[in-house]
Amino acid sequence: MERAIRTTCAYCGVGCGISATPTGPRSVTIRGDETHPANAGRLCSKGTHLGETTGLTGRLLHPMIGNRRAGWDKALDLVARRFRETIDRHGPDSVAFYVSGQLMTEDYYVANKLMKGFIGSSNIDTNSRLCMSSAVAGHNRAFGEDVVPASYDDLEEADLIVLVGSNTAWCHPIVYQRIQAARAARGTKLVVIDPRRTETCEGADLHLPVKPGTDVALMNGLLAWIAQQGLTDPAFLADHVSAPEGFWEHIRTGHDLWTTAKTCDVAPALLEQFYTLFAATPRTVTLFSQGINQSIRGTDQVNAIINVHLATGRIGKPGAAPFSITGQPNAMGGREVGGLASTLAAHMDFAPDNVARVGRFWAAPKMATKAGLKAVDLFRAVDEGRIKALWVMATNPAVSMPDANRVRDALAACPFVVMSDIMADTDTGAHAHVRLPAAGWGEKDGTVTNSDRTISRQRPFLPLPGEAKPDWWIVKEVARRMGWRNAFAYDRPADIWREHARLTAYGNDGQRVLNLRAWAAIGNDAYDAMEPFRWGGTPFADGRFPTPDGRARLVLTKQMDMQEPLKQWPMTLNTGRYRDQWHTMSRTGLSPKLARHREEPLVEIHPRDAAALGIADRDLARVETAQGNSIFRVSLNEGQRRGEIFTPIHWTDQTSSGGRTGLLPRPLVDPHSGQPGFKSTPASIGKVATEWSGFLILRDREGIGQPVKLPCLWSTRIAVPGGALYEIAGNGDPARLDAFLPKGDRVEAMDASRGTRRIATIGEGRLNGVLFVTRSGLLPSRDWLIGQLQAEGVGGSVLAAREPGAAGDKGATVCVCFDIGLNQIVAAIRDRQLVDVPAIGRALGAGTNCGSCRPALANILAQNMQETLHAAE
Ligand code: SF4
Repeated sequence: MERAIRTTCAYCGVGCGISATPTGPRSVTIRGDETHPANAGRLCSKGTHLGETTGLTGRLLHPMIGNRRAGWDKALDLVARRFRETIDRHGPDSVAFYVSGQLMTEDYYVANKLMKGFIGSSNIDTNSRLCMSSAVAGHNRAFGEDVVPASYDDLEEADLIVLVGSNTAWCHPIVYQRIQAARAARGTKLVVIDPRRTETCEGADLHLPVKPGTDVALMNGLLAWIAQQGLTDPAFLADHVSAPEGFWEHIRTGHDLWTTAKTCDVAPALLEQFYTLFAATPRTVTLFSQGINQSIRGTDQVNAIINVHLATGRIGKPGAAPFSITGQPNAMGGREVGGLASTLAAHMDFAPDNVARVGRFWAAPKMATKAGLKAVDLFRAVDEGRIKALWVMATNPAVSMPDANRVRDALAACPFVVMSDIMADTDTGAHAHVRLPAAGWGEKDGTVTNSDRTISRQRPFLPLPGEAKPDWWIVKEVARRMGWRNAFAYDRPADIWREHARLTAYGNDGQRVLNLRAWAAIGNDAYDAMEPFRWGGTPFADGRFPTPDGRARLVLTKQMDMQEPLKQWPMTLNTGRYRDQWHTMSRTGLSPKLARHREEPLVEIHPRDAAALGIADRDLARVETAQGNSIFRVSLNEGQRRGEIFTPIHWTDQTSSGGRTGLLPRPLVDPHSGQPGFKSTPASIGKVATEWSGFLILRDREGIGQPVKLPCLWSTRIAVPGGALYEIAGNGDPARLDAFLPKGDRVEAMDASRGTRRIATIGEGRLNGVLFVTRSGLLPSRDWLIGQLQAEGVGGSVLAAREPGAAGDKGATVCVCFDIGLNQIVAAIRDRQLVDVPAIGRALGAGTNCGSCRPALANILAQNMQETLHAAE
């Protein structure tokens, strides 16, 4: 029997430990690692279903030059030669790397060293720029170093947790579960500050639906309130904090409760309730993520939060800290090695003595001496022809960058693009001259750092498929071919880890909190056996900060003027994640179970806004901004503020004809961090009329991961067991879709009065494909038909779309672990008089495995109990 391997989840920055037991060549059983400090055995729905994503569907298995397979030597030689020629002809700043929080720290280290110490440019930036670089800039301004001054343990020691701009229940589910457990155990209060009423708000003590982009006013107002009540910490301020001239005068002016409430568009009484609670609760953790960071004033928003904590001395103590949580599994590791264009290495900046120190350590021939191009500027430079050779590692900027269509044009025009990735066909890969097959999760070997500074091993438990290689190996082979053999003589990740750890300690006599000296000389076996550990202890517990004078710095932050909506763009577009999908779905999109939570890219809109525009639930609508437009399925949601719409970031050309959120936001960035503002783009929305709608179900999982364009206005591909489901809609004659049905005996039924066509193809008693189209808008549930892909003895009665006498439609999937639908839950609440989430779990099993759906269950429960009560009145 195979041994369980302890590793770390591939997805979010919570960094949960996983126990993976291989069960076949590409299959694995996944459990939460009960010994890991981040999750103690818990996993959310994404982590739980990682085992569904380790197959080879869509994988890039061989180096490719153009569309031809090439040997590694030929491909690496070409990459090294083109980079060398470009640098020789146009200088080091004519090349760039765009890397990813999916890389291991060791991968990141080698890429950063090559660019900043040997090529002599700082043009290496990462998709983490889009996720949390405002937190980095804010930490540097306040503390003098990018140190997250909190740990997950603080969540269990706090009396108040404030979530700002974070749909924690969906985006960091295990953190959310830890918060809920703390609430149950010790009555911790929970406040959510978010323009949208998300599932995170379920059961919170308070929700402040602030106007987007007003967090500086909110936090400055809070500080003004605290100061007015005499509740700052004068001793901490006097001993450990500096304030710029005019700071307190600025806070006292124009930040009264009424003015702040007006700016933030919340009721003064609600604001006062929050301020009173905050002021009275010394053990407060303020946890923030993309809602704060992804703003054109993100760094000021971060510092406005930190200011409040510094002024009240709520830092460096149990249960009291500002807490930035990251989106990606190794955004933090990238920060530690210097994988951002704005940092050098090991938490050092480009001060001349740092450049000299790192240059000595690397024995570098050509050190970069200044910051490089940050992501948006980097792709602008590609577009303008200043970057002539670009290497994209483990990320998909053609989808994820703001103004993504312009990024596609830039990639298409770039003289030389390299992509190293696990997937063969991505929207970015379509523009690559060379594609290099990289190691995926389960094959990677290295370390990652999660949001609370815990470093964990990602261990391999699957063989490298085809000719795939680890990213660190690919980069070092190119470096060696560029002429730097000795400096990149790594044989294994442990070699790189030791060098990275030594650099953090090099010339570090306490100036930098990041110091991994204790791990700098570990042997290969000790590296393999490394237990998760958190570096930095409890930062700032002694009141000393890594600034030249040892004092933290308050930063004067001003609320930017809020623009009134323009006539052409009356709505404000906010963007974000779904609970069960990850980034551009190259992995999670393979999982039929994860696909069930949200099958199509939705635009969420308040019902009254929709009614005013003549838009109904489930219509199609075009969302348009100055950058472009894309079509989404409409979802009415009273949790949206009026005048605001929300779309998810996940869909690509590989999965849908619409849903392209990335092309909509402006490429505007925060002036300090360079992080784009994804959360408030002026937009418009309008109904897209279609004459018919339908669905197509096709056998064969091989189709998933391959782009399939269907000849209709709307198509979204959804992974289902044994095949793929396409939701479709369009105008004109839908008969042209018949050609997409696989071969087989054809059965069909037409109803001219409803404009309905139902066609199935069957071979040897097995369903090969089915196409349902209607002009009346009524379609049956897909569930039973999907199940027929795996049934035998299928006949013409399949067109009835349900088993004779079978139970009704179970509704949209809520619990993906046990495949429990909304209608089943509602029926159980009503028929069995269930009154709480555990009771639903006992009745149906829903919510009793990963727990990711518990906020949704609470929401359904609240709605249906209310309806039941109203019915009884
Ligand atoms: Fe993975 Fe979920 Fe844990 Fe994030 S919360 S690391 S996605 S299991």
